[in-house]
Amino acid sequence: MLSSPLDILHSVFGYTQFRGHQQAIVEHLIDGGDALVLMPTGGGKSLCYQVPALVRQGIGIVVSPLIALMQDQVDALREAGVAAAYLNSSLSAEDQREVERRLLAGELNLLYVAPERLLTGRFLSLLERTEVALFAIDEAHCVSQWGHDFRPEYRELAVLHQRFPQVPRIALTATADERTREEIVERLALQEARQFVSSFDRPNIRYQVGQRHNARRQLMEFLERHRGDTGIVYALSRRKVDETAAWLSEAGIEALPYHAGLDAATRHAHQRRFLREDGLVMVATVAFGMGIDKPDVRFVAHLDLPRSMEGYYQETGRAGRDGLPAEAWMLFGLSDVVTMSQMIAQSESADERKRVERQKLESLLAYAEATHCRREQLLAAFGETFHGPCGRCDNCIEPPKTWDATVPAQKALSAVYRSGQRFGSGHVIDILRGEHNERMSELGHDRLTTFGVGADMDEKQWRSVFRQLLAMGLLEADAEGYGTLRLTKASRDVLVGNQPVRLREDARPPRAARKRRDSQLVTGTSLGVEAFEQPLWDELRKLRTQLARQHGVPPYVIFHDATLLAMLRALPANEEELAAISGVGEAKLKRYGSDFLAVINAQEA
Ligand code: ADP
Ligand code: ZN
Repeated sequence: MLSSPLDILHSVFGYTQFRGHQQAIVEHLIDGGDALVLMPTGGGKSLCYQVPALVRQGIGIVVSPLIALMQDQVDALREAGVAAAYLNSSLSAEDQREVERRLLAGELNLLYVAPERLLTGRFLSLLERTEVALFAIDEAHCVSQWGHDFRPEYRELAVLHQRFPQVPRIALTATADERTREEIVERLALQEARQFVSSFDRPNIRYQVGQRHNARRQLMEFLERHRGDTGIVYALSRRKVDETAAWLSEAGIEALPYHAGLDAATRHAHQRRFLREDGLVMVATVAFGMGIDKPDVRFVAHLDLPRSMEGYYQETGRAGRDGLPAEAWMLFGLSDVVTMSQMIAQSESADERKRVERQKLESLLAYAEATHCRREQLLAAFGETFHGPCGRCDNCIEPPKTWDATVPAQKALSAVYRSGQRFGSGHVIDILRGEHNERMSELGHDRLTTFGVGADMDEKQWRSVFRQLLAMGLLEADAEGYGTLRLTKASRDVLVGNQPVRLREDARPPRAARKRRDSQLVTGTSLGVEAFEQPLWDELRKLRTQLARQHGVPPYVIFHDATLLAMLRALPANEEELAAISGVGEAKLKRYGSDFLAVINAQEA
């Protein structure tokens, strides 16, 4: 008698119930159906094929593009007592033969393979001599030529359907857009597959966007809330990455740099430390992230505007995979718009491509400047309707104040127009404020009717107006990237008085940070760990790290933060109580139960 999906969920994974579409997907596969699963990062895609692979006869074959990830997933499964293995180019010939032997002997429940390996004639004929429970195609968007992660071999995977028509297939991705979905269906011959589309909302992520005043101080204040937390800080340039990492380390926050300019060995070492250690901050360019499966990333901070909403969603999505509270925090300023426009202008891309890139930048700016629910706007970018307020973004928690800026907007647009649409915001603001200088008289701009009409506002206020006009598409930066401003089609309505303009009041730059350097390291506050609980929390984490070292796996493979947190709250006194905690399956209970109970009981005593 085979086990039921729920039995497997309890005994192997230690979870009490399925989430979202998981159960429907699992049952569909067990019945032999094909499935296409669209679920955000952290949604719980893995269980969708792991559970049916354990319920059905035979082995589950998982196609995965990332060698580094395979090992972690296999480690995690083995910790849970599942017979899992992987086959890729990182194994020695001998180890490969051993895996093949176990495959043929029917000793494995799950096997992870790289696509190029799967597609070899040798491997396919091995599979023909084996009972296959299902094929799972992870990161299925890799078939798409339009995405960043295109893998030509993925397109050949339709062969599985031809050679093994009776074996159910499940394709999974966290990429939401319609075009990619259609491409997956077509390329993988999944026309008959049932589609399971989840909401792409990440309810545990709190979004916050702020104006940059003093990036370092702002970052430091943010990090104060995240003492001892693992996180990622994204910056645009390699230099900024290096400088920020160095400065954070000096300030006593363990931080490592990561960008494409570092040699492969250093990059590898830094990535490995990030995955294996608790509480490390990675300062990185976008080169870092693909395949970062660490569940307990508590924050993602952006020091510069990302390239697009997709990029922002993906990067922030690396936070809080484990479902516990996490923060997406971003700073931006007017200079970002200029830098980004320049980068687009100077890139090698074709004009059509540049136009698309500029549009992407504009929608991101509109997001950054939004005065209503961020979640609503973020999900709208992926065609999903969400009705705010969500209560978990800065705009919902503290709605921004707005002011009627119709007249200043008219003055600004008019000054741009009358000076010939050939200047950047700096000079136009000088015109508005009536600054007399050499350049001004040379250009004759001190004789413009708009000269000095905006002297009632200071430079900072004007910069805020220009930034927001850009974000609203009432001004555009030139395509060549010199930062010069031009009117747009929409500007006219404002100039002639048909369109009022409301802008957000910029928050005042915060006063110098209160000096609050706690001598004692405060950890876990972002997860709601109270001061009195900290000693035990630290002990539990210490034990986890110790065990992880012994077993050569990342700490979260031993237990997730969510599981440690549950222990901290439930204070289980014996194995039975420990087993009731989410994330404690039978294998882990046997292996680690007594160690954790000892730590808990020692504290309680
Ligand atoms: P994805 O691959 O979709 O990003 P994962 O499969 O890695 O997500 O799952 C994300 C996290 O959620 C993991 O820590 C996993 O153990 C946890 N998880 C998944 N399903 C459940 C469930 N039914 N109950 C509790 N935790 C779950
Ligand atoms: Zn909101």
